[in-house]
Amino acid sequence: MNTFQDLGLQDNLLQAINDLGFTKPSEVQDKAIPILLQEETDLVALAQTGTGKTAAFGFPMLQKINVNSRTTQGLILSPTRELCLQITNELKLYGKYCKGLNVVAIYGGASITEQAKDVKRGAQIIVATPGRMKDMISRRLVDISKIEYSVLDEADEMLNMGFYEDITSILSHTPEDKSTWLFSATMPKEVATIAKNFMYKPQEITVGRKNESTSQVSHEYYLVNARDRYQALKRLADANPDIFSVIFCRTKRDTQKVAERLIEDGYSAGALHGDLSQNQRDLVMKSFRNNQIQMLVATDVAARGIDVDNITHVINYQLPDEIETYTHRSGRTGRAGKTGVSMVIVSKSEVRKIKSIERIIKKQFEKKDIPSGMEICEVQLISLANKVHNTEVNHDIDAYLGDINKLFKDTSKDELIKKFFSVEFSRFYNYYQKALDLNISVSNDEHKDSGNSVRYFINVGKKDGFDWMSLKDFLKEVLELGQDDVFKVEAKDTFSFFNTEKELQEKVLGFFTDFKYNGRFVNVEISENRGRKRERKRSGKRNDSNNRNDRKRFDKKVKHSKSGNFGTSRPRRSRR
Ligand code: AMP
Repeated sequence: MNTFQDLGLQDNLLQAINDLGFTKPSEVQDKAIPILLQEETDLVALAQTGTGKTAAFGFPMLQKINVNSRTTQGLILSPTRELCLQITNELKLYGKYCKGLNVVAIYGGASITEQAKDVKRGAQIIVATPGRMKDMISRRLVDISKIEYSVLDEADEMLNMGFYEDITSILSHTPEDKSTWLFSATMPKEVATIAKNFMYKPQEITVGRKNESTSQVSHEYYLVNARDRYQALKRLADANPDIFSVIFCRTKRDTQKVAERLIEDGYSAGALHGDLSQNQRDLVMKSFRNNQIQMLVATDVAARGIDVDNITHVINYQLPDEIETYTHRSGRTGRAGKTGVSMVIVSKSEVRKIKSIERIIKKQFEKKDIPSGMEICEVQLISLANKVHNTEVNHDIDAYLGDINKLFKDTSKDELIKKFFSVEFSRFYNYYQKALDLNISVSNDEHKDSGNSVRYFINVGKKDGFDWMSLKDFLKEVLELGQDDVFKVEAKDTFSFFNTEKELQEKVLGFFTDFKYNGRFVNVEISENRGRKRERKRSGKRNDSNNRNDRKRFDKKVKHSKSGNFGTSRPRRSRR
């Protein structure tokens, strides 16, 4: 492989490279830089985030522009504000010895007048998001009619975000004979169309194989019931005490909800999504960068420009709608030569998506089990022991040692260690000692005679307007159960049957002790003979005074049933 000198870069850039501590070019730099320096050509580069692609187009652009001129010569379009700022900062670092260089970032959510002023001072390179750029062109606040180099960075993502029209409109204001360099992690049809319509005989380079995800990332999936998703997330976090992660949700609402629950449960978490103000997003990102937030819960769009290198885990709380997006998510970890893990929490209905993703990333997922409560306790205990072992002694404690020693004069070393660790460990132990196994198997899908299910009789049926589907939905809703929790629902005229797993028996019978539907008490009992010759076991005790109770009591019950799965209080965690 070449050195940076071999690539043909001039001294002032080599000096900056030296300052940055880059010892050798990355693959995309090794391939792209010589081409872009030596030829006036269009280029399509397939490279993931984290491969060093900013420098791959940045160095050639810096070498080729004329810093003595105030004309805008280079335009870089990027999908998000964060990425736009990140590229701008990198270019400033790369060009720190290019005297007179002015790189300006143009993006939405900040003062357009200020940005226009910066451009007017003479920006040789503009880094922009498409929406704001188009806006500034239409207000004649920028002039890109003389640019020589344009870069479409993360082109697939810009098109995913619906910027096609904006990009074509912007390019229509640029000269025909400019060079266009397109960087993309994947090559969907839409990107190929851009290359075909707006580029002239582009050279192609590929880093790794096409559409392959970053090689330092291992991929794991965990199969759980949809209703256990959040518990599974907590266990994954607890089983990795030093986790520094991005957790992806599908919607802004889920993102906010998951972050709030994590914070409530004592984790250092934060939400990042488009409904937050720019200021709020900046604050969250700052805390994340400073490691004050261990778990950043984000939407795909908001997470685009995250330029944090040491993320240990990406957790897909839900899979993305477009499976191609998975590549972007997993690319957030395993950056800058580090290893990373991309975890996916899936329910049975989504598990087939894993196969499709494997085809795209050309890698196998490992199916793993959500750790059991006791496994987590063990990890936490060992992690705590290591932390104590590595802690530097604070000698201000010396002054109190006498008193403390007096207190423990009859305590042996072993006992003292046990007591000391119990302070922290017992929280986890108390929480997890009765924890259920969250893992499920695909073969269990139809609940066919799993041997562990309970069949119930319920005194509502078709006469009450139910068919099996609406009854299933009704039961799931009032009992707050997941998609697969109620099964084998059979609606008869005046009564019906349904099954749940045995673990839910108490909850089901407990709930229907005083619940009214259309003014009539709903009676649920265990049916031992599958409904025909029913032998009912009345379990929910209901006395007459209860019978007279009404809706108010039901509402209260629904609220109560929202408490956690284990009926134990959640451990509060002390965090860094
Ligand atoms: P990018 O793919 O452009 O987002 O770059 C990912 C990270 O790698 C950035 O923090 C760069 O500063 C860093 N980087 C870029 N090129 C190199 C290199 N040749 N050696 C080490 N780090 C690099």
